[in-house]
Amino acid sequence: MRVLITGAAGFIGTNMTKRLLEEGHSVTGTDNLYCSSERNYKQFLPNPNYTFIKHDIRDSLEDLFREPFDQIFNFACPASPPNYQRDPLYTLDTCTNGLVNVLELATKMHAKVLQASTSEIYGDPLEHPQKESYRGNVNIFGVRACYDEGKRVGETFCFNYNKSKNTRIKVIRIFNTYGPFMDPGDGRVISNMVMQGLRGGDITVFGDGNQTRSFQYIDDLIEGIIRVMATEDDFIGPINLGNPSEFTIKEFAELILEMTGNKSKIVRKDLPLDDPKKRKPDISLAKEKLDWEPKIELKNGLEKTIEYFRNLENL
Ligand code: UDP
Repeated sequence: MRVLITGAAGFIGTNMTKRLLEEGHSVTGTDNLYCSSERNYKQFLPNPNYTFIKHDIRDSLEDLFREPFDQIFNFACPASPPNYQRDPLYTLDTCTNGLVNVLELATKMHAKVLQASTSEIYGDPLEHPQKESYRGNVNIFGVRACYDEGKRVGETFCFNYNKSKNTRIKVIRIFNTYGPFMDPGDGRVISNMVMQGLRGGDITVFGDGNQTRSFQYIDDLIEGIIRVMATEDDFIGPINLGNPSEFTIKEFAELILEMTGNKSKIVRKDLPLDDPKKRKPDISLAKEKLDWEPKIELKNGLEKTIEYFRNLENL
């Protein structure tokens, strides 16, 4: 199978590349390296089934490739709050014009295209856990809107390309995910706290730490995505992919402290604006449609992640 991955040097793109190459597929990756790392894609260059092209999806993709793809995964977008808030217009442009370029390519090639949407489309949710039918509670004037609204209209683009142009789309909503090939400096809670723990620095809890998140290990997500891609064309989503076991950020910090085993202590910092108070996926649809649910418990996933970051520190 011939596969295109945009955002191929990012966290999910790298893990998906690894899995597809292991299965013997031919993978082309594109990335503009806005907030991803050369290290991530360079490891695959010796593989004859892998090609990397430095490209920004905000520019047309149509003249880049000679042969058509069977599948396209669109992972190209900054996803951590500090990264997507750094240049809100860039984030919006990537979520809209960038996605349209990907959809145009998929339509032309008659390829299946999977859009990485997000639990952020639920905003600061008033329904808990969040089902796909929940319409969300997003502050359109807020600092997170460039990403939240960008991803919301991204879904609308996908559903309307499917309706108007028969584009073979799949929309997944990804909840907090962690694991190897995350960027240690992207500012997310897992990478922040693990790096702080490993370096013996203070572990920063934003606000009172009673806000919750549900953390999914990357291998579970990748398996879910592969299963979504394998569904028939009449299944277009949206579908939640996440781990329903919910933790407060305070509990999470304590676990990291225990597992990294350093002299760190927990310190409080201000809660960022519009920080969602809770988040937990309802995954009944994924169970029913994909026969999928996460298998890796937080502690096991964290062990592998800590190991990855520890090796990175020793480079
Ligand atoms: N957070 C924290 N300390 C950090 C980074 C984040 O307490 O060093 C909190 C943040 O305020 C949020 C949660 O952890 O409530 C998850 O934040 P993250 O940036 O990973 O992603 P989000 O789920 O908010 O998009």
